[in-house]
Amino acid sequence: MNYIATIGLEVHVQLKTRSKMFCASPVEFGAEPNTHTCPICLGLPGALPVMNHEALRLTVLTGLMLGCDIAAISQFDRKNYFYPDMPKNYQISQYDMPLCTNGNVPLHDLAYPKDAQKNIATRDKEVRLVRIHLEEDVAKSFHFETTTGIDFNRAGTPLMEIVTQPEINSPEEAFAFLTALKQILIYGGVSDADMEKGQLRCDCNISVRRENQTEFGTKIEIKNLNSISGVRRALACEIRRQVGILERGEKLEQETRGWDDAAGETFLLRTKEFAHDYRYFPDPDLVTVKTNVVVARVREHVPELPKAKRTRFVAQYQVTPYDAAVLADDLELARYFETAANGAKKPKNIANWILNDLQNALNAEGKGIKDCPISPEALDELVNLIDSGKISGKQGKQVFAEMFASGKPAAVIVKEKGIEQLSDIGSIEALCEQVMEENPKPVADFKAGNVASLNFLKGQVIKLSKGKANPQLVGEILDKKLR
Ligand SMILES: [Zn+2]
Repeated sequence: MNYIATIGLEVHVQLKTRSKMFCASPVEFGAEPNTHTCPICLGLPGALPVMNHEALRLTVLTGLMLGCDIAAISQFDRKNYFYPDMPKNYQISQYDMPLCTNGNVPLHDLAYPKDAQKNIATRDKEVRLVRIHLEEDVAKSFHFETTTGIDFNRAGTPLMEIVTQPEINSPEEAFAFLTALKQILIYGGVSDADMEKGQLRCDCNISVRRENQTEFGTKIEIKNLNSISGVRRALACEIRRQVGILERGEKLEQETRGWDDAAGETFLLRTKEFAHDYRYFPDPDLVTVKTNVVVARVREHVPELPKAKRTRFVAQYQVTPYDAAVLADDLELARYFETAANGAKKPKNIANWILNDLQNALNAEGKGIKDCPISPEALDELVNLIDSGKISGKQGKQVFAEMFASGKPAAVIVKEKGIEQLSDIGSIEALCEQVMEENPKPVADFKAGNVASLNFLKGQVIKLSKGKANPQLVGEILDKKLR
């Protein structure tokens, strides 16, 4: 029996603002516990929240980047529950008037896990969104041996929640969705989306049903996943568990589960009996938000998105769709490429150098493109030296290695090492004539029809030039002289 998995995701994204959602306390990862707090984010009685306009702008920008409808009027609500990480006993969130609705995230091949890229069920799938709303994060609990400590630095941090339609069908698709979404968030400067720092967190809703069954199966939620690969593993494990239960003829219960990454299994957190009733109501301390002014302003600054960049790279720089995808996958890499390729005669060659030699060299030293010792302009200069025949491709590799190690420009290295390629036709002709005179037998062989002896003669000329003669020119000149 075949089963179909149905997955919906709720993604929490920490926005890249300098201060918190409703107060002026700074947002900073890794600060000493409880140093970035004030009466508002500590939830002290009488403190009044004021909305952070930058958080509003970033959420509207996200909505516009993802093709959402932006609400003309939006509202903040109180989500009531009691938990030690939230002393005012409610979280300010949005209930029935979220900032954004609809929209979608386009998936592309490279967003899938490497081992799944050859086996994509639905190419260029677009995962539709239900909504995006804005809320405040809660504090963070740290459980010690016998006590629990709470760090309020995170309390009140602006958080954007992105909810998808339940139309993701595999752990690999969920992986691709999160990768593609993260990329767009980084493109927009909305968030660094660093999952290790908790800037992107994910809850998954998942159900399985038999292929011949039309209604959805029992929905089970997996809470608080904090890595994209963890989401993939947790979903794969949960699908196996649910199918196993159905195969045994047992029934699934609606429940919330956690993920133990080390053990590689999900575990029960709570059943439906303990489901919360949040008693949402509009927060009387905050006014409703009219978005017309901010939407008009943000619309002018929507950046070029990964998909558009890939298409443009192919059209403008004649790189392959695959190369365009790799370059556009990383905004810094895309910027590096464009700076180097700007005005280059053969931008395709620039792309080749970046994607092969440069990336290999960076990977070998565990460096990212941001710490690259070769500036994009310097790489362009090197590629120009090769393309114009001043140095050979082989010499280019030597020069590149030296550039990477010393940070010196290509022209300086070429001069210092005296590795400039000989491309002066008169000088090469003289060398060819000398070699032909000294090697009468191969010359006669060639004239008698032995084409291979041309290579021997060519090798002799290059040897005589101490490896400096341009091999292509040597071949052309010899060929002309021998005919
Ligand atoms: Zn505060």
